[in-house]
Amino acid sequence: MRVLQWICCPVCGNKTRLQIQADTELKNFPLYCPKCKQESLIDAKNFQITVIRGLNVKGKNLLTEYPV
Ligand SMILES: [Zn+2]
Repeated sequence: MRVLQWICCPVCGNKTRLQIQADTELKNFPLYCPKCKQESLIDAKNFQITVIRGLNVKGKNLLTEYPV
């Protein structure tokens, strides 16, 4: 089973339209949130999200599991 994770907006916590899988790597990726219309800059690797620019609520889970 392939597992995808939705990336949540670091600003408002809403689910964005971006999904990643375990081997997805993002570097300086501009993550746009359709809800609060903020853009954050993130890195992603091994389901770990690092917020480079933008609000980062510490300890907040930025991924939502989405089994396919
Ligand atoms: Zn947002």
